[in-house]
Amino acid sequence: MTTPDHPFSPRGARLRARRVLVAGLALGVGLLAFPATGPSRVGAVGPLPACRVADIQTLPGDYDSWSTTLVDRILTVGEDYVPPDLVSVRDAGIAGGGYIREVTIDDLAAMAKAAADAGSPIGVWSPYRSYQEQVTIFNNYANFDGFDDALTYSARPGHSEHQLGLAIDFMTAGGGSPLPGDWGTTPAGKWMAANAWTFGWVLSYPRTKDGGFYSDITCFHYEPWHYRYLGRELAAKVHGSGLTIREYLWNNFTMVDPITGQPVPTATPTPSPSPTPTPTPSPTATPMPTPSAAPSASAQPVGTWLGVDPPVVLGGVGLIMLASIGFVAWRGLRR
Ligand SMILES: [Zn+2]
Repeated sequence: MTTPDHPFSPRGARLRARRVLVAGLALGVGLLAFPATGPSRVGAVGPLPACRVADIQTLPGDYDSWSTTLVDRILTVGEDYVPPDLVSVRDAGIAGGGYIREVTIDDLAAMAKAAADAGSPIGVWSPYRSYQEQVTIFNNYANFDGFDDALTYSARPGHSEHQLGLAIDFMTAGGGSPLPGDWGTTPAGKWMAANAWTFGWVLSYPRTKDGGFYSDITCFHYEPWHYRYLGRELAAKVHGSGLTIREYLWNNFTMVDPITGQPVPTATPTPSPSPTPTPTPSPTATPMPTPSAAPSASAQPVGTWLGVDPPVVLGGVGLIMLASIGFVAWRGLRR
């Protein structure tokens, strides 16, 4: 397991900050009219933690926070996590069996129909798995391959997205196990890679940026069949960011210290009842040395100001100031 060129290098952070600045100005005033939407960002803990074996209780981890709950090699939902709204995947009219959270059903149905209409029908190979089922699966792999190797392609119990009731290992409808070969090169696999995110489903364990099979970012081997449901809105953001689910959730939502396991104390997503925005003079001119890589991501706890994200307000105000300066200079030239 080598250490690849890390996305959180200082140079990368500067480039991203510049991109954010330019994009913010370009969007400008128009954005001021758009209300903040989606799961409220509550800040996060900082750089992506390195892959290591730990059992830190993930946060958020309540059933309502399904879209932003992260499990990885470090974070667990524990033994008792059983989603309260499991339903048969057949409710989505898709081939295969097993259970999945009801929150996924409408988009799962729409995706299955679209895939079939495109001539590359998909089915469900493995959806929700309980903690106990994962005990059996992981132990089998560990006995066969050894603990360290098993870790790279199988989640320890408590650490599986399947236990969230939000992950499905897809197959080609009627095609059997997707595990042999590279399902990503099959018609169904290709269709999913191109389209699943538009239905709220994101590939959890992609190849590395240079095509490698094991990723030090996801701490997992490439799995072209394994998709996690995030809902359409968050899925679009994750897809647009170019980041993996693990990076995006650590950067934007996860509220637990990856070393100490303590909740991050600044996490209070409670909007002030009477917000008084006081924009600082040049909020975007001094890029924060934060590692957040998503264009709209902020490592600061943010609420909303009158329903508008503070960065949006500041970006809009900045553009107005620039326009004013330009206008004054233009008038000066005419005199
Ligand atoms: Zn899976």
